[in-house]
Amino acid sequence: MESWLSYIGDSTSYGLSWPVWITLTGISLFGLLAVYTGILLLTGRKLPAGIRMLQMPTLKSRLVLGLVLAASLPAISLALVLAERSTHERLERDAILLQSNADTIARNTGYILQMVSRSMEDLASRLKDQVDRPTTHLAGWVTSIHEKFSSFRSLVVVNQAGQAVAGSSMINGRLRVFDRPSQPFTERDFFTIPFATQKTFISDAMRDPALGNQPVMIIAVPVADAKGQPWGVVLGYLGLERLAIGPAMAPVDKGAGILLIDENSRVLFASESAGLNVLDNISDKLILRSETEPNRSGAYNFEHSPVADESPQRYLAARSKTSNGWQVIVFDPLSEVQRALLSEYAIALTWLIIAIVISVGFAVALANSIVRPLKALDWAVRHFNLGEDATIPLPPADAPREVTAVFTHLDSMGRRLRQSYQEIRAAVKEGEKLRTELEYVIANREKEIAKRTEQLKEANSALRRLSRVDSLTGVANRRWFAEFLSQTWRQGQRDNQPISIIIIDIDDFKAYNDTYGHQKGDACLRAVAEAIRDVVCRGSDMVARYGGEEFVAILGDTPLDGGLLVAENIRKSVEVLALPHRGNSSGSIVTVSVGVTSTIPGESSEPEAYLVAADRALYTAKDEGKNQVAWSTTSQTGVYQSLCLPPGGQSQPS
Ligand code: GH3
Ligand code: MG
Ligand code: MG
Repeated sequence: MESWLSYIGDSTSYGLSWPVWITLTGISLFGLLAVYTGILLLTGRKLPAGIRMLQMPTLKSRLVLGLVLAASLPAISLALVLAERSTHERLERDAILLQSNADTIARNTGYILQMVSRSMEDLASRLKDQVDRPTTHLAGWVTSIHEKFSSFRSLVVVNQAGQAVAGSSMINGRLRVFDRPSQPFTERDFFTIPFATQKTFISDAMRDPALGNQPVMIIAVPVADAKGQPWGVVLGYLGLERLAIGPAMAPVDKGAGILLIDENSRVLFASESAGLNVLDNISDKLILRSETEPNRSGAYNFEHSPVADESPQRYLAARSKTSNGWQVIVFDPLSEVQRALLSEYAIALTWLIIAIVISVGFAVALANSIVRPLKALDWAVRHFNLGEDATIPLPPADAPREVTAVFTHLDSMGRRLRQSYQEIRAAVKEGEKLRTELEYVIANREKEIAKRTEQLKEANSALRRLSRVDSLTGVANRRWFAEFLSQTWRQGQRDNQPISIIIIDIDDFKAYNDTYGHQKGDACLRAVAEAIRDVVCRGSDMVARYGGEEFVAILGDTPLDGGLLVAENIRKSVEVLALPHRGNSSGSIVTVSVGVTSTIPGESSEPEAYLVAADRALYTAKDEGKNQVAWSTTSQTGVYQSLCLPPGGQSQPS
């Protein structure tokens, strides 16, 4: 885990923050995908309205988004992580390379110093036999030997008093005998230290006016005399440009900067790209002030402006030390590193984009191949009908097996439904036919029933009429008479109206039968009945055959005098018929005797008593000689005294 994550952020320490941001963005997107996955997994129900879009409303969008996210996001994250890892590795490689270069240069520089020290020590050992010679000889010897030590600008022999006794200089490619004024070196460390320590000493760098102010350093080696006693010091002035051999031998990148710095922070060698001069003191320059701590690879960053007044560049640097304590700094501009990384990222991103385009295309194609059959299925279901020639369309050629199965099932369901539908339709048709027939039959039956009912009604009414009518004479029979009397009686009671009852009896009818025969008798009865009915014709009146040759008439709302008038009219109308009757004791034509009574029916009175009274009046009429009208009231029975009319009154029979 440590190795997996630790390099994320390394680029920041190299001054590159964007790879980290890109990587973190990729990882964050992946994290969001994880959260989204969680939401989709955990919530099977509808999301709240605000975030419902997350669920994607259509199958196609779900598939495309799902596939693209599932395929691309891990790829993006992985690619970015790998790119960041590659950044890290590249930086590490660069750091190692820089370090190795710095070490090589340090080693080479040390080697050069060692070589020049050796040659100076060799010179010093050869001087042993020359120091006792005269100075002119010594000068000649040094000059001659200088040719073999051509890497030195000057060689100077200094005695124990610090006086330069001989020397030679290489000026403009020519050797010159050293002839400077004898300024003792007793104050200079390159004389005092080697003389005191009897060891080779390498001085700081300096400019020597005698050598045209060229930057030099001095290799000072103690010299002994023939007896081995310290005699003096021999100084070799080495041009600092000689130190460029060390960097030149190292396989440093083009554009890399190299600095060789002594212990006093002065530049002994600087490559052009460093923008520094030899012997510059760098301690007051930006270059070291903005150094960072070395990173894990040993490299560190610094900012430095090679050209004065320009904004500083950032560098990745490595340092090493020579055997004598000098520093070697090798540095590469970070812009180079960044450019290389950028191209790596560009390649990674190009691949990513290609991968994403392919995966989006694949997702869309896959989604289409699923959604198209579903749409076809939707169409089939929407246009499903039970028509006879209706068929379920075939599924698209690329439909998945699951959808094809649904098409098959839909087809077989359609066939079953169609069959059931045809059966139901046939049944319904049959039912309709039956219903029509049934309706026809019912209508006929109803007509018949109505006709029969009508006939029955007529028969009933005929029966009723017959049951109430006397068959011989056509007037009401006894039963109807009884009903009518009771009805009229109640009305009279209710309205306090008078009722008259008239009984009519044919005189000597027995004799008529005997004389003319029974059939003539019947005809006579019919004629008398007709005559009575002609007189008694009000709606509130009734004529009935009371028995044998007796008739009765009931007159509603009629007082006694009215009743007597009607009775008299009856008698007269029969008389007017002038039916011959030889056996009539009161004449030669058919006559009738009539008894009349009248009353206003009292609350508790019964009509029977008044029928008796009428009958009584009839007997009176018979007794008084027939063919006349007589009256009677209840006074004789003691019931209706008020109706007694004086004999010979208005209605008295004439
Ligand atoms: P009176 O003047 O006192 O009434 O004498 P009457 O002969 O009429 O009286 P009676 O009651 O003795 O005779 C009635 C006769 O009427 C007897 C019967 O032969 C006759 N009669 C009764 N009903 C019918 C009928 O329906 N048809 C015929 N032809 N005669 C009938
Ligand atoms: Mg009679
Ligand atoms: Mg009679």
